[in-house]
Amino acid sequence: MSAKIISGKDIAAEIKEELKKEVEELKASTGIVPGLVTILVGADPASISYVTAKGKTAKDLGFNSIQDDQSEDLKEDDLLALIDKYNKDDSIHGILVQLPLPKHIDEKKVLNAIDPDKDVDGFHPVNVGRLMIGGDEVKFLPCTPAGIQELIIRSGMETNGAEVVVVGRSNIVGKPIANIMLQKGAGANSTVTVVHTGTKNLDEHCKRADILIVAAGVPGLVKPEWIKPGACVIDVGVNRVGEKISEKTGRKIAILKGDVDFDAAKEIAGSITPVPGGVGPMTITMLMKNTVKSAKMLAESKK
Ligand code: NAD
Repeated sequence: MSAKIISGKDIAAEIKEELKKEVEELKASTGIVPGLVTILVGADPASISYVTAKGKTAKDLGFNSIQDDQSEDLKEDDLLALIDKYNKDDSIHGILVQLPLPKHIDEKKVLNAIDPDKDVDGFHPVNVGRLMIGGDEVKFLPCTPAGIQELIIRSGMETNGAEVVVVGRSNIVGKPIANIMLQKGAGANSTVTVVHTGTKNLDEHCKRADILIVAAGVPGLVKPEWIKPGACVIDVGVNRVGEKISEKTGRKIAILKGDVDFDAAKEIAGSITPVPGGVGPMTITMLMKNTVKSAKMLAESKK
């Protein structure tokens, strides 16, 4: 039997509708409009397209969305001063600095300068620590892992006591999603195993998984025989494996493949995310969710 396809596109659209309503309610009851600033240094074409997509989504949801473009030769101190200005600005609830930054700027120093209570990307060491502690401590979950958890919950998968195997131990996906799934509480409380390049018998671990989350960046790494029949498979991998001409635009576009052999895996799994259209659309959506949460936290603190 073919697996249920977990559509990140549909789930992201559902969450955005919920957020739109939350923004309207917040505005009506407090006058607060979620404010998101994106700082772009230089003119890297990929960065411009990411920043544009974030700005458009924020505007569609009724946010106050600011794109602060700075020249390639901006000094590090000036960027730190700009972040300080937004840290102190009560109308701004989320600050994003688009990466990569020019080589003369220390990325770590810049990201650590963002107020952790406005760090809607969830990568500040304070927010990483809050995630480890769990419970009420958590302010912002990093966006891709938060999106993965939403996909699992909204597809109806039972996580309580489930065997979760995470392939990959990066700071942006593997480690945080492992941490999220092991927390005590709804949508988690799982038994988590993290496998990586140092793991022996990768296949044996994957075969135990009720929920298999794959974030390795290796096309087709997970073979269909590694999947437990009926398992939920979340494929985070986005690998460019070639180019094709888009039927819509007539332009060259990348052919994307996940870390799982989708066509074969869907005959064994109970549910599975496609690539593209699975985890991808969730990331920006969760960024917006974090910004709304930040605005609500500010409203609460002013009561
Ligand atoms: P990364 O390269 O930082 O980490 C990959 C991890 O996978 C490493 O910890 C490594 O130990 C493990 N790994 C690599 N090859 C392996 C192998 N053969 N066996 C076992 N473990 C192996 O990558 P990342 O930033 O975590 O991203 C992973 C993938 O997810 C990439 O394809 C990336 O493009 C994609 N990604 C997608 C989104 C999204 O959809 N929004 C967001 C982030 C990352």
